[in-house]
Amino acid sequence: MANYPTETLLSWSKAKEIRETYYKNYAAAHDKGGIRWVGGAWTFDAVPAGLGGNVYSLTSEPYGASCAFNKDFSTRAMEAAETAGYARDLCAYMRNYWGSILMDEYAFGGPFPKPDFIWQDHICCSHAKWYQVVSELEGGIPMFCVDVAVGPAEPFGTLTDSKIDYVTGQILDGIEWLEKTTGRTYDDELFIEACWNDFRSTSRWAQVCELNKAVPAPLDEKTMYSLYVLATLQKSWGVVADYYDELYDEVKDRVERGIAAVPNEQARVMSDTQPPWSALKLFRYLEQYGVVSVGSLYTFGLEGMWDFDPATGDLVPRPMPEKKPTTREEAARELVRWHLHKPEYQHFYDCDYKSQMMVAICKNWGLSGVMLHYNRGCEGLSLGIAENRLAIQEAGYPVMTFEGNMGDEREFDLGRTMQRVDAFMETLGVKKVAA
Ligand code: SF4
Repeated sequence: MANYPTETLLSWSKAKEIRETYYKNYAAAHDKGGIRWVGGAWTFDAVPAGLGGNVYSLTSEPYGASCAFNKDFSTRAMEAAETAGYARDLCAYMRNYWGSILMDEYAFGGPFPKPDFIWQDHICCSHAKWYQVVSELEGGIPMFCVDVAVGPAEPFGTLTDSKIDYVTGQILDGIEWLEKTTGRTYDDELFIEACWNDFRSTSRWAQVCELNKAVPAPLDEKTMYSLYVLATLQKSWGVVADYYDELYDEVKDRVERGIAAVPNEQARVMSDTQPPWSALKLFRYLEQYGVVSVGSLYTFGLEGMWDFDPATGDLVPRPMPEKKPTTREEAARELVRWHLHKPEYQHFYDCDYKSQMMVAICKNWGLSGVMLHYNRGCEGLSLGIAENRLAIQEAGYPVMTFEGNMGDEREFDLGRTMQRVDAFMETLGVKKVAA
């Protein structure tokens, strides 16, 4: 049995601090004369940055996950949403978020801080609807939503100039809308800097994930959740971009010194879509078998920016743009081109694209098998997941499925899932190595 050295990730507590500061900043924005806005984790958060240094955001999916992590809070939020008449099969993050508004409770303490405006984008069918309801619940908050659903990027499709123009035009219109809505003058320099930070954060996070090809893996997926979340909060924030540089250096050093996330690593798996946030101990259970979950297309590509090369069958971190944009138009265009390549956007168009990228991870990250979460809480990322299962199996990798919900713990059975893990380990020929 392997017995690799292991160490606590030194920069982990810094990631926690950044997250805490982010949520506090949003709540306290008005006390500092600032403004606050809400939108999704995929929204172009670099754009509102041009309104000034004291503009604070709350992104919805990580906030929904934070609610879900707190079982008591989440149950009350779900019940509040259901009592208000919202169906139980809608996006679980969205229901947590709506419940939080309905209860007027912020998951980090105090009443829910009302936003000044909504800045959202739309690819999943829940995105715009989510904030239409938020606007209504809060008494009519101004909202701008960018439609990004222009079809797949290379290599699955072609990002023609007209597609990029279509999305860029919405962003440029959105900047004028932001000026009118807030009464502030827009600063192009701040916008350009925020775009550059966005490219830095999302490119660097992909490079960190690439380091997990190493055996032993320097990071396990449970730890990665506390790290990738920063890009979902505010990828255009310089603090986040700088943090990922520091993290990259630390993880690279771990690889060079053979430092393992799981010291008895004897098999490697990946997961898919969001985990059941109230039951992350599932990942600790894997460790009893000496199994490390090295990430997933979700963990790598929700915010990380990659290029998929069908010729080599590999995913490689997308290189930074060659030069920093110099004008508002250039920055908006580069921002759009960059984000339309997001791996997690591609599989909204065809589940086969997702299968190809998942098989690439199986091959290049040296996996023994895959654990697929049939996640009832997210129809967007679970789309076609049963087809992914077949494709991964055809590529020669055993697949375990488990049903659950990332944000509604009433739909997840930990005991039964652990039994499925036991059976899967038998399939992989892996025996328990710790109690
Ligand atoms: S269903 Fe999934 S992809 Fe859609 S908004 Fe909810 S969490 Fe996001």
